[in-house]
Amino acid sequence: MAAAMARALVVGAGPAGIAAAGVLVRAGADVTLVDENPRPGGQIHRRPADGLRIDMRRLLSRSLEAYDAFHAKADALCEAVDYRPSTLVWSARDGEAHLASDSRSVSLGYDALVLATGAVDRVAPVAGWTLPGVFSLGGAQVLLKGQGCLIGSRTVFCGASPLLYLAALQYARMGGDVAAIIDEAPFSAKIRALPQMASEPGTLLEGLRYMRALARRGVRIVHGASVASFTGEDRVEGVEIVRRDGTRETIACDSVAYGHGLKPESQLAELAGGGLRYDPDVRLHLPETDEDGRLLPGVYACGDGAMVGGAVAAEISGRLAGAAAARDLGLLPDADAGRASLARRLGRLRRFQRGLAIAFPWRRHFASSLDNGVILCRCENVTVGEVRASLSRPFGAGDVNRVKADTRCGMGRCQGRFCGPAFVEIVAAAGGSDARPGRLRSQPPVKPLPVAAGSAP
Ligand SMILES: Cc1cc2nc3c(=O)[nH]c(=O)nc-3n(C[C@H](O)[C@H](O)[C@H](O)COP(=O)(O)OP(=O)(O)OC[C@H]3O[C@@H](n4cnc5c(N)ncnc54)[C@H](O)[C@@H]3O)c2cc1C
Repeated sequence: MAAAMARALVVGAGPAGIAAAGVLVRAGADVTLVDENPRPGGQIHRRPADGLRIDMRRLLSRSLEAYDAFHAKADALCEAVDYRPSTLVWSARDGEAHLASDSRSVSLGYDALVLATGAVDRVAPVAGWTLPGVFSLGGAQVLLKGQGCLIGSRTVFCGASPLLYLAALQYARMGGDVAAIIDEAPFSAKIRALPQMASEPGTLLEGLRYMRALARRGVRIVHGASVASFTGEDRVEGVEIVRRDGTRETIACDSVAYGHGLKPESQLAELAGGGLRYDPDVRLHLPETDEDGRLLPGVYACGDGAMVGGAVAAEISGRLAGAAAARDLGLLPDADAGRASLARRLGRLRRFQRGLAIAFPWRRHFASSLDNGVILCRCENVTVGEVRASLSRPFGAGDVNRVKADTRCGMGRCQGRFCGPAFVEIVAAAGGSDARPGRLRSQPPVKPLPVAAGSAP
C-alpha cells in the first residue's frame, strides 16, 4: 500500500499563503488552501467582486504588473491544490482544523498547518469615530478595490500610517476628491526613521513618489496635527484637528478614512497553541516564531499575520515557512543556500518595517486623554467611562480580560479586532503611562459563525 501523502493546510490566499502553498505542492505535499474571501489575492491584490469591471490600470498604475503576475501564479496554483474559497477556518488545534462555509462546518486533519492570515486596521478611537461616513483606512481601500466605490464625495484621510498616502492617491486616481491628508506623525519622525528605512531604498522611494504625486494633484497634506474629533449630527461633516501650536481647525468633508497602521490577525496562532511575544516597538503581541516561521511543531506563521511587513516580506516569509514545513515533513532536504539569502532579505524588510513604526508611531498616549463618553467597543456599545469604572472596582485589578468579562468590551461581533488595541492601552494607562499593554485572549470561533454551522455534526 502506498504511504499517505503529508497533508498541509494553508490558511490565507494572500502573498504569504500563495507562496507557502506553492513551495509545499512542489515538494509533493497534499495541500488544502483555504480563504474566507471568494478569490485569492489577500489585501494588496484584492480582486473586484465577480462581474464588476474596474479600471485596474488607473487604480494601480505601476503596481498593475505585480498584481497581474500574482494572479497568474495564484490561479495556476489554485488549480493544483484543494482550494476552498469563501471558507473560514474558525479554530485549529492538535492536528485538526474547523472550517465553515455555506452554513456548514467541517473538520479537517493536517500534518502541517501554515497560518498566513494577514492583518487588520489598527484604529485609535476619538469622539465621533462611530458616525456614519467614518471608515477605517483599510476598509475604505477594500471598498474601492473590491466594489469600485468611493466612500463619499469629499474625503479626509487621517491617522498615522503609510497606507494613508497610497489609499488617498488611489482615491484621487479614481476621481475622488481628497479634502486633505492629516498625517498625525510629525515630519521629524520620518527623518528619525531614515536609518532603518534606508535598508530598502526602493520601497522608500515608492513612498516618496506617492507624496509627490499627491502634491502635484494639489492635495493638502498636514504633518504632525492630531485628530481631536469627527464632527457632525447624523453623519460626519468635518474633521477637527489640533496643530502642534495648539491652534484648531475643522476641515469640511462627508467621509473619513482613518487608521493607525495594521495589527496581525494572530488569533488562530494562539488557538493552535503558539506563544505570543510582546514587541515594544509596535506595542503589540506577535506570534513567537523562529526565522523560518515555526510556531510549534507542525505549525507555522508567516506574512502580515506573523509580523506586518508588506507584500514582499509576506511572500518571502511564506516561502520560508512553506519550505520549513516541507523539510519538517521530510519532503525536502536540509536548508540550502537559497534559504540564507531569503532570510537576509526578510531581515532587511523587517528592519524597514521597524523604520515605519518610528515614522508612523502608534498613538499610544491618546488613552489617558479620551473623554469618558467616547464609545470604545462599537459592537457592544461600551464607553471609555464604563471601562475606567470597571478598572476602579477592586476585582477589575488592571487585567484586560477581567475588564472584558465585566463590561463586555471586545466580546461582540468583531471579537475585539477594532476596539482591542485601544482597550488594552486604556487599561495600561490606569497602571501608569509607561505600563505595557496586556492582550485579549483569543476565543473560538475567531469570527462569528451562522447558527447552522455551529450546530452541524
Ligand atoms: C485592508 C488592507 C489593505 C491593504 N492594502 C495594501 C495595499 O494596497 N498595498 C500594500 O502594499 N499593502 C497593503 N496592505 C498591507 C498588506 O496586507 C500586505 O502588504 C500583504 O497583502 C500581506 O500579505 P499576507 O499574505 O500576509 O496577508 P493578506 O494579503 O492580508 O492575506 C491574508 C488572507 O487570509 C485570509 N484569512 C485570514 N484569516 C482567515 C481565516 N480565519 N480563515 C480563512 N481565511 C482567512 C484573508 O481573507 C486574506 O485573504 C493592506 C492591508 C490591509 C489590512
